Amino acid sequence: MLIKSQRRVIYAYEYDGLTGLLNRDTAMSKFEKLLADTKSYSVVIIDLDNFRIINESYGHEIGDIVLKVISGRIRNICQQDAMSRFVARYSGDEFLMIVKNRKLTADDALVREVLASCNQPIPLKELMQTETILPGDKIESLVTYLGVGIAVSDGKSSFRRLVQNAVVAINTAKKAGSNSACVYEEAMQEDVHRNNRIRDLLLDAMKNDGFYMLYQPQIDIQKGTVSGTEALVRLKKERISPGLFIPVAEKEGFIRRIGRITTRLVIEQIVRWREAGEPLYPVSINYSSSQLGDAGYVNYLLQLMEKNHIPSSLIKLEFTESMFFNNNHVTQQLLKKLQDADISLSLDDFGIGYSSLKYLTYIPVDYLKLDKSIIDSYLTEEAEAEGKDRFIRDVISLAHDLGKKIVVEGVETAWQAKRLKSFGCDIIQGYYYSRPISPEEIATFTVRTED
Ligand code: C2E
Ligand code: CA
Ligand code: CA
Repeated sequence: MLIKSQRRVIYAYEYDGLTGLLNRDTAMSKFEKLLADTKSYSVVIIDLDNFRIINESYGHEIGDIVLKVISGRIRNICQQDAMSRFVARYSGDEFLMIVKNRKLTADDALVREVLASCNQPIPLKELMQTETILPGDKIESLVTYLGVGIAVSDGKSSFRRLVQNAVVAINTAKKAGSNSACVYEEAMQEDVHRNNRIRDLLLDAMKNDGFYMLYQPQIDIQKGTVSGTEALVRLKKERISPGLFIPVAEKEGFIRRIGRITTRLVIEQIVRWREAGEPLYPVSINYSSSQLGDAGYVNYLLQLMEKNHIPSSLIKLEFTESMFFNNNHVTQQLLKKLQDADISLSLDDFGIGYSSLKYLTYIPVDYLKLDKSIIDSYLTEEAEAEGKDRFIRDVISLAHDLGKKIVVEGVETAWQAKRLKSFGCDIIQGYYYSRPISPEEIATFTVRTED
């Protein structure tokens, strides 16, 4: 009796209650001993790429099911060779796998098996107890994507060092796209340093009012007037592109706070323009899909607008397709609230993602914002000579057929502007008219008319 309960205590102490796998602390010391005399082995960290989104949008109950299913799949793969493969739960959504006597490559059959197996749809409906109420739409199944980091023993590095290296390699794997694996290399350490530096800059900026906004004019090309501006965030301390620091902010979980800060800065600026009697243009605010977890965002925005008497016609939101990867009740509620408040929505970076024509017919956006890279490849004089620029014209009429306006960004030449005008394009944003400029410059900005 005593032995049985002792065993239970040990079990609870060493194993993770949810997945039944070894927990991190136990695994780290057990594996360290196990590998003490092994020269050749690989450490694999398996990270669920979209787990935070799943947890935040569907709730922890579904998050737990996902973790159980995924851990079961990894365990099955390990059991095929139980003498050399071992697995543990490493953190919330990360698993640690050890493969003895093997130096894995990113393309190894075993690695591919892990990626493929975990990427199989999880049949939620079958797994849920019948009494449980599924949130929002009935979700039948979910798919998870992995980032897999691998570190291979070199005879010198400690086991713990290799684990850290495998974690570093996950970032490179994730950059390569979802459901990828990557083997650690020395050079990746630089990315870590850069990331840490940006993280520190952001922490400092969030604490010390370290952000400011620039505004890039958007031109109504048919009328030749300013139709609005896009608010683009900058750091006061350092000239570093938001293209670099926004992804870090998303990864580090700062984007919700930054999203609110930029929103407040925009509202305060509109108030200042109004008080100075300057012309007031609608301002587009970028909304990152990583802000979806900030359930209070829309209320925050609406309260700020109300308090400062800002009409909804002066605020637009821009977001990317990734908002719809898990098209669920959270996204739908957010969009509905914004629509109810009469705030226009733009789909940013249109044309480079997975845009299926079908979803364009039901997502409630008012504007499609064609990505610069599309213009770069299809709206040049060479492309015109090959007749390729017709594609742009067709995209514009497609947008119009769907009842949406089209914004083309990244327009750099008079020739491009002229072509777009003749194609019936609605709005243009680009260096040809203006770079992002200060609020003072916006107040005196006029649309160039030469050419
Ligand atoms: P985006 O939303 O696609 O923004 C447009 C970017 O293209 C801006 O760069 C703008 O300066 C740049 N651009 C506009 N016209 C031209 C052109 O003619 N030529 C070239 N080469 N570039 C042009 P920026 O300000 O560096 O922003 C980069 C990205 O950072 C933005 O891409 C956006 O995704 C993100 N970002 C910027 N501000 C915010 C923000 O406040 N919140 C969030 N969540 N993301 C932001
Ligand atoms: Ca944008
Ligand atoms: Ca864009």
